[in-house]
Amino acid sequence: MSNLLLPTSTAGSLPKPVWLAEPEKLWSPWKLSGDALREAKQDALLVSLQEQISAGIDIVSDGEQTRQHFVTTFIEHLDGVDFNQRETVRIRNRYDASVPTVVGAVSRPKSVFVDDAKFLRQHTDKPIKWALPGPMTMIDTLYDAHYKSREKLAWEFAKILNEEAKELEACGVDIIQFDEPAFNVFFDEVNDWGVATLERAIEGLKCETAVHICYGYGIEANNNWKKTLGSEWRQYEESFPKLQASSIDIISLECQNSHVPMDLIELIRGKKVMVGAIDVATNTIETADEVAATLRKALQFVDADKLYPCTNCGMAPLSRSVARGKLEALAAGAALVRKELA
Ligand SMILES: [Zn+2]
Repeated sequence: MSNLLLPTSTAGSLPKPVWLAEPEKLWSPWKLSGDALREAKQDALLVSLQEQISAGIDIVSDGEQTRQHFVTTFIEHLDGVDFNQRETVRIRNRYDASVPTVVGAVSRPKSVFVDDAKFLRQHTDKPIKWALPGPMTMIDTLYDAHYKSREKLAWEFAKILNEEAKELEACGVDIIQFDEPAFNVFFDEVNDWGVATLERAIEGLKCETAVHICYGYGIEANNNWKKTLGSEWRQYEESFPKLQASSIDIISLECQNSHVPMDLIELIRGKKVMVGAIDVATNTIETADEVAATLRKALQFVDADKLYPCTNCGMAPLSRSVARGKLEALAAGAALVRKELA
């Protein structure tokens, strides 16, 4: 990776073009099928890549253009999960969703995202970050009728994720990120086995690794939950000490417009930090100065060479024009602070 200070990136997902899926919606159904869908997903990936490059994003992603959802799409490719047998469960103790059922031993018959990652690698020389769901967030999006143990299932998923991650690394992915919003909810489990299963998922990887922990997409259930969290959000306090002691290289977190006290970052001193300087729960586009102000605050607790300006979370539910504006603001804000540091 280059020596550029404050390299910008996104948490992962970006809006899909209207011809691929209905916009501004989670779990939006595809508009095409078969070969036409396969081709359209690749086209959308290229459009998303181009939008990131045009906006000045330094570490690019696939914009998650080939996934309907950041967790379910990965699980769809696994054996042992029946998508026709559905149960309603409470996701992250927050909202009910109809989810598939684990009916047998889980396994990954073939790679899930490797072709997409190869395709992205072919089309850019920039560093690539690839997002995968984390083990704890995966088990929280399923009904388990087989293992009947959240921990056991998490270890199984960690093994599967590790296989996928090694193949992604082999096709030239520079950073592999695991999305663990569940780390902000199930604190006892994070300490008992959450971080341990995450370390299993990154075992043997030579590329950089990241964990993304956020307060979720800007959807109603999440926004309502945030209203109950009070004026200071100290959830990170629960996972940071364990993560600081772990072998994860980068921690990605939510800072813009959130009530997370910035000094909590002190708890992960020594790690690289992807600082969320873009709020994904509002259509208001940040100014470059607002982004810069957030980054300057973070610089009190992160060394400049370890600070990675980022978005709070994925931008899939936003309109393309808003997302584009936010990417440009992120790049412009980072450029302002970079100039000050030079
Ligand atoms: Zn997120």
